[in-house]
Amino acid sequence: MENKKNMRTWLNDFELSHPLVIGGPCSAETEEQVLKIANQLKDSDVSVYRAGIWKPRTRPGMFEGVGAIGLNWLKKVKEQTGLLTATEVANKDHVKLAIENDIDILWIGARSTVSPFIMQELADALAGTEKIILVKNPVNPDLALWLGGVERLHSAKIRKLGLIHRGFSTYEKTKYRNNPEWQIAIEVKNRFPDLPMICDPSHISGRRDLIFDISQTALDLNFDGLMIESHWDPDNAWSDAKQQVTPSRLIEIMRDLKVRNKTTEEEAYKNKLGSLRAQIDVADQTLLDALGKRMKIAKEIGLLKKDNNVAVLQNKRWNEILGKMILDGQERELSEEFILRVFKAIHQESINKQDKILNKN
Ligand code: PEP
Ligand code: MN
Repeated sequence: MENKKNMRTWLNDFELSHPLVIGGPCSAETEEQVLKIANQLKDSDVSVYRAGIWKPRTRPGMFEGVGAIGLNWLKKVKEQTGLLTATEVANKDHVKLAIENDIDILWIGARSTVSPFIMQELADALAGTEKIILVKNPVNPDLALWLGGVERLHSAKIRKLGLIHRGFSTYEKTKYRNNPEWQIAIEVKNRFPDLPMICDPSHISGRRDLIFDISQTALDLNFDGLMIESHWDPDNAWSDAKQQVTPSRLIEIMRDLKVRNKTTEEEAYKNKLGSLRAQIDVADQTLLDALGKRMKIAKEIGLLKKDNNVAVLQNKRWNEILGKMILDGQERELSEEFILRVFKAIHQESINKQDKILNKN
């Protein structure tokens, strides 16, 4: 993408701190709630105040946001605290109202990034804007949709762009509300190195006790900021109650996170090393997940073999698999010897598991 260099500058123009911290409730509920939380956050590391006023919920019938009246409350936040303000926009009417009411940062939610129709409507409505626009990843782990959304905005001459990584929904339940799939965020960062990348640990985790660790991983991966949902009374929040933290907890989290500094050469080296190590950790987790999944399938095959009275070891199939792995490995610059060692170990573990099943009565 041409002109990428311009995009990062909004972080510097605003002299926003590193990392950029966006805090505030999932939803604006009442004027009192919005102003109370803003005042509790105003002397912290938070420089941008978030509150959703149009809330696209997955299922209808829940609280769907206070609507345009919330824009006045955000204006008051800016007057009273000096914090910048941010809200989600999902159609052209939202864009018009948010710009008219001088919201500083508009973000595009995960349920919008999934739809090229919505992204094009938003890009047309925002064309040429000087506002900062942040694009959340789509709900599903689809790299192209995320890239495509950014490209549509860029084509509409929107220059102050950034990304928010909020995790991806998966059919299989994990400990996360939305699986981080860090490798997708890393890939997008590599494609658009000049777009600031902000992590939203609240929507990744869905539960407040995981927010610290996810935030630390994001900082280790060299993310530029964090968006953390915060509420003065999290348990009684009208949306996303389980994942919100109090302003004082948010301040504590920011105090305890290790932020890597980018100034000296030595710091730059440590920073790079830390980021590469964090990428290795992500890759190792992915390997472990894949191995766990493979062994589960092997166990199911074991049960099937037991029911049908078939021997565990099927040499012909195994030799075919190995041959294919050696070829696929070559494409990835993995030596034959390495592939043989790794897959023999994996195969042995599968055999052990299946043996156990077959020998159990
Ligand atoms: C939100 O930020 O409150 C929100 C609705 O997020 P997402 O689009 O990531 O689900
Ligand atoms: Mn939320």
